[in-house]
Amino acid sequence: MTENGVAKRLKVNGIVQGVGFRPFIFQLAEKYGLKGDVANTSSGVSIHIEGPAGKVASFEADLSAKSPPLAVIVEINSQRVAVKNYPDFTITKSKGESRTSTLISPDVSICDDCLAELLDPDNRRYRYPFINCTNCGPRYTIIDDIPYDRPKTSMRHFKMCAACQSEYDDPTDRRFHAQPNACAGCGPHVCLYDNQRNKISLKDPIDQAAELLKQGYILAIKGLGGYHLAADAANSDAVMRLRRRKLREEKPFAVMSVDLESIRRYALADGGEEKLLTSIQRPIVLLRKKNPSCLVKEVAPKNKYFGVMLPYTPLHYLLLKQGFTALVMTSGNLSEEPIAIDNDDAFNRLAGIADYFLVHDRDIYLRSDDSIVRNIAGTKRFIRRSRGFVPIPIFLKNEVPPILACGADLKNTICITQQDKVFLSQHIGDLENLATYEFLKLTAAHLRRILDIQPEIIAYDMHPDYLSTQFAREQEVTPKIQVQHHHAHIVSCMAEHKLEGPLIGLSFDGTGYGTDAAIWGGEILIAEEHDFERAGHLAYVAMPGGSAAVKAPWRMALSYLRDAYGEQFRELKLPLLTEIESAKLTVIGEMITKGVNAPMTSSLGRLFDGVAAICGIRSQVNFEGQAAMELEMLAADAAQSIYDYDWIAGDTVNVQPAPIIRGIVKDLQQGRSAADISAKFHQTLIRLFTDLCAVIGKDRGLDRVVLSGGVFQNSILLTGLTDALEKRRFTVFSHRQVPSNDGGIALGQAVVAAAISSR
Ligand code: ZN
Ligand code: ZN
Ligand code: FE
Repeated sequence: MTENGVAKRLKVNGIVQGVGFRPFIFQLAEKYGLKGDVANTSSGVSIHIEGPAGKVASFEADLSAKSPPLAVIVEINSQRVAVKNYPDFTITKSKGESRTSTLISPDVSICDDCLAELLDPDNRRYRYPFINCTNCGPRYTIIDDIPYDRPKTSMRHFKMCAACQSEYDDPTDRRFHAQPNACAGCGPHVCLYDNQRNKISLKDPIDQAAELLKQGYILAIKGLGGYHLAADAANSDAVMRLRRRKLREEKPFAVMSVDLESIRRYALADGGEEKLLTSIQRPIVLLRKKNPSCLVKEVAPKNKYFGVMLPYTPLHYLLLKQGFTALVMTSGNLSEEPIAIDNDDAFNRLAGIADYFLVHDRDIYLRSDDSIVRNIAGTKRFIRRSRGFVPIPIFLKNEVPPILACGADLKNTICITQQDKVFLSQHIGDLENLATYEFLKLTAAHLRRILDIQPEIIAYDMHPDYLSTQFAREQEVTPKIQVQHHHAHIVSCMAEHKLEGPLIGLSFDGTGYGTDAAIWGGEILIAEEHDFERAGHLAYVAMPGGSAAVKAPWRMALSYLRDAYGEQFRELKLPLLTEIESAKLTVIGEMITKGVNAPMTSSLGRLFDGVAAICGIRSQVNFEGQAAMELEMLAADAAQSIYDYDWIAGDTVNVQPAPIIRGIVKDLQQGRSAADISAKFHQTLIRLFTDLCAVIGKDRGLDRVVLSGGVFQNSILLTGLTDALEKRRFTVFSHRQVPSNDGGIALGQAVVAAAISSR
């Protein structure tokens, strides 16, 4: 051993397995001429390093500064130990222990090295659609159990050939211990079928698939986290056919293009958006449409945005390189069902939609939809957090007991906690059919297995009829803690920012069950983790027909008009009222007056719907939030003035929509455009809630405001309110790690339940 030698035991915690971490350590030890060993343990990576003190210090500095792209280091524990006089540096075999807290990596896009090899005719993996290495490829979707080793993944069915095995065994190789390592000689393959399950024998199924897409056929393509349905985005017949067969009338389709240059032909992307597009997670990024655009309007009708992504698997690249500006790549399902992952299941469910199937034989164990993000005010905001991000945990400010939180029924995700980490599941979907409910159960079981956690507490929504509530009740675990929906929203954002209450929470969304059994959604809360007080809310109005009013914003319009004008509203000269049959008007009017099948709501989402319908933007919707989204997109850039607004002070402030509605009607009667009215409506809400926060903040001595709930996917409102509140010296917090919509609510439920249980 070198003179003045020191030895250290380093324990590295985080996402450090299956990401090329040990080869990185090996090479780092070589670089500094240090001895010792490195091993995976159930709690991370353990390193013994010895040699001259200065070199050991450099090694430690590089360890965190230069770690591999997929590694996420959470903690390094460093201890002086006795020098053992190792002869060299080695990588030792995994030390399995019964309990593991190692983090599993998400699935990531093909890396630049692999992409270069894929397109290199001299490489042995030239055009091999499953090329990958320790820096890229599938992870979460192919893992069935822990520890993350090949026999616990869907690659167990493929025995590596000698060439692949030697890469896998070589610590200096990019494919050292790359569990999905494969080549054309030993790994998975793609095959093309027609929709009668007849195999089409060809030399190159991918070339043929591209040819079929060019001819206007619809293809089901097996990807990383599930099947996509693909069509040429420049072919309006093909896209229309896909809409008809998928029963999806207007909801935008995502598209995929081979590079940024192709994307620039139909959409506008600024620097921040390009960074999101090219990030290793490869999410769908919402980009403003170019006008005119070379993609057909049926891709995203009546929408100012396209959902765009770059290829993330080698197969995508091989397909897209055949000269498409963009392919529609929408999830392989009938609307509202989970996406297909299994080949049999895909043929059963998608044969009526797809003309051909591009299939492969690497199983997907857990489906994972594409993630969706939007760049708002220079920050990435999740609309859906799924493939590429799951299962990276959200870190809490303190440790909590093991909790399973069941989420809400729309955009459902669940989460499981482990010490100071929250593992939010991938997107499960709207719990409105049996298939999605089954997927919820499967995901919960899978998460428990791969995280090796037995939950001790169940957290769930207060809504008595939610399927997520039913799921919670079916669990044998007690205690079970009910969490109010809007409280959970605010606490999910507090958890992201490691905040403690009390603070002001603006919880704005479409629907959530209130403690008084009304439907809440325009809530001003004084929130702490364990409890909240309802400091104010939008005044209650009737929702004629209950959930039918969500699908038919004209019903909400009538409710707000009646609230503002009384029974005289029928005399108003408004295009909306002349369009509705008089008998219908009478029926809805009576529902409201008599309170028959007309639950009360304070939802801001519904106010957006109502205003959209009054302005004649939309009186029926095809998906939740569509009217509100179109109202936002229509808004003129600047508002000249704002509408009068009013609230009734008291223990619980009652915000009145009536003056705003009267202002809008007056503008409409004077011929103002919907674009101007929308801009003015947004500015009114910003001023109103800023003023209200100022009053409440002064009253209670609070200077922090948290913004959460699905309404904050609205960029005008999110940026406008943040700016206005900051001008009044509030510190404002909004979501960065989880969606503001119900896709992030499980996080809040878990933290509320932990706070309640610790009291
Ligand atoms: Zn790679
Ligand atoms: Zn091979
Ligand atoms: Fe919500």
